[in-house]
Amino acid sequence: MHSNLFNPSFRIQACFVALLCSALTSCVGVPTSHESAIVTRAQMQMGTLVKITAVARNESIAQVAATAGFAEIHRLEELLSTWIPTSELSRVNTSAGVMPVSVSQETMTVIQGAIQVAEMTNGGFNIAIGPAVDAWNVIEGRRIPAASELEALRPLVDLQAVHADVRKQTIFLEKSGMRIDVGGIGKGYAADQAVMAMKKAGALAGVVALSGDIKTFGQLPGGKRFPVGIQHPRKEGEVLAFIDLENEAISTAGDYERFFERDGVRYHHILDPKTLQPARSCQSVTVIAREGIWADGLDTGIFVMGVESGMRLVEAVPGVEAIIVDHEGVVHVSSGLRDRIRKS
Ligand code: ADP
Ligand code: MG
Repeated sequence: MHSNLFNPSFRIQACFVALLCSALTSCVGVPTSHESAIVTRAQMQMGTLVKITAVARNESIAQVAATAGFAEIHRLEELLSTWIPTSELSRVNTSAGVMPVSVSQETMTVIQGAIQVAEMTNGGFNIAIGPAVDAWNVIEGRRIPAASELEALRPLVDLQAVHADVRKQTIFLEKSGMRIDVGGIGKGYAADQAVMAMKKAGALAGVVALSGDIKTFGQLPGGKRFPVGIQHPRKEGEVLAFIDLENEAISTAGDYERFFERDGVRYHHILDPKTLQPARSCQSVTVIAREGIWADGLDTGIFVMGVESGMRLVEAVPGVEAIIVDHEGVVHVSSGLRDRIRKS
């Protein structure tokens, strides 16, 4: 069995958005003024709890917009989940080593985005990591694979052998046994697309939160930005910092949601593609960007890179900010965020 983000068995990761939801649930479906209403709804999708908040002129528009957001995420799950055998990515994977597979423009866009994040993060992000993720099977297996087992998988975790042909619109995995999945980037992309669907349906503002991958647009009635709490990586239920967002996405990758411990060592689900071992340099990485696809892809990639080169990357890319908790628990905040985060 292979595991990725869309694994329906993954437990609900609700902590990240707890603040946001408690701030808003009190106004579910209730008109907040003469001109606007807020609706908040939640359901399981992509193996996680998805919460959508829609602000619109009236409640029925807000409801329609929330429904449109969920429908969009459902559509993307059918396209991108490697847990659905008929999805485009599943077909790409079953044809590994055999032949190129025609894919939609949209799948191509996500895979190209993933390849771009891989380049930016110096290979820290790698969508071909799947065979190694399975060998660890952190959630169910709780096993530590032998070095020889990981060595045998190494040739499969090879981004150079992923051929995404934009002109022919095909993807070919060169070696049999290779597999790609968008576990580290797909939820951010889904949040972006769900926001587009909500706007089209008439929402004035809102939030789409797929667990810790969140995209916001517009403002709350009354002109407030959307408050988001960042989970403390070692103190369950405690917020490390708060930030108010407007037309921004935020994503967190952490070693605290899916892990097991053996002899005092923590084994978690984000692997370093160079060692095929759980990445060791951070406890959590939160990235803020305009688009969810970048926030989500970069959080995983920077988690692998570590604080020094990770922060260098963040400072070099306009519109991207980060809060990195390093392996000793020291919190590092990028220059553009220092005046924006609050303790309460
Ligand atoms: P979450 O799934 O908690 O939102 P991430 O965005 O960090 O967290 O994605 C982690 C998932 O990405 C893992 O479950 C795994 O499927 C996949 N993954 C693990 N290591 C890497 C990596 N180095 N590059 C890309 N994807 C990875
Ligand atoms: Mg990610």
